[in-house]
Amino acid sequence: MAKERVALALHGGAGARRSRDYGREVPHMQGVVEAARDRLNAGAAALDVVSEVTAALEASGLYVAGRGASPNLDGRYELDAALMDGSDQRAGSVAALVGYKSPIGVARAVMERTPHVMLAGDGAAAFAGCEGFAAIGDPEVWFTRAGAGEDNHAPSTGLAHGTVGCVALDRAGRLAAATSTGGVFDKLPGRVGDCPLIGAGTWADGTAAVSCTGQGEYFIRTNAAAQVAWRMRLAGETLDAATAAVIAGVGALGGDGGLIALDADGTIATPYNSQGMKRACLHPDGRIEALVFEG
Ligand code: ASP
Repeated sequence: MAKERVALALHGGAGARRSRDYGREVPHMQGVVEAARDRLNAGAAALDVVSEVTAALEASGLYVAGRGASPNLDGRYELDAALMDGSDQRAGSVAALVGYKSPIGVARAVMERTPHVMLAGDGAAAFAGCEGFAAIGDPEVWFTRAGAGEDNHAPSTGLAHGTVGCVALDRAGRLAAATSTGGVFDKLPGRVGDCPLIGAGTWADGTAAVSCTGQGEYFIRTNAAAQVAWRMRLAGETLDAATAAVIAGVGALGGDGGLIALDADGTIATPYNSQGMKRACLHPDGRIEALVFEG
């Protein structure tokens, strides 16, 4: 029954620029993957591992998600997050959540402690408070604004962006995906991106687990994450072909970004059409790589 071979990929966003140094992010991603490898080898569930990895990326303040998020045009930090368990297609998400340290933790609680998939805005914050999630306190103290000053504005819209995410395959053969983001810089209040929309920025089923990053509007318009799995299941495409086609579709509309994806065999694909994408992989043979541009 047990498949035994584990695999994982994470990303720290596709808003990477060659002009910037990623000397802190690359070793950080490497360390997070090594810790995740140990958890998966010890038999941890894919859902737990993608939650933990995403929470670690949020907490680091190095990426435009969780502590590293940037404010919207009103100066408020509205965060989006989602996760999905491929073994039963249960999912949870939060959109435009204000005031809490770990949006991915709240998204998981939506999945596990409510009959719903998604909570947004004031309702999501009220739920997080009732469930005892840690509040951020003073935003000026808490947030690091990881991407501030980065020259990572998308060619399509001029809006900069960043996200974190993780996909994993556990020893029992289960896939899971998680994504968390501060969204795009200078977004309008109430703007929700692809990340918390199940099927757009985050997806997992028995075929593939996918987490997207990039100009979210284009990933919504192409239903990017779920499209990978449907292409594989209905059109018989390989993971590589399906993910390349999805990113090509995003690009054809004028969007930029990338995704990480994993299939039930542990094959990993990390295509992007932006300058770079912060990412790290644990392959089924145990090989780990962490990089931002081409390897
Ligand atoms: N996809 C995210 C959003 O549009 C941003 C990003 O991945 O950089 O909210």
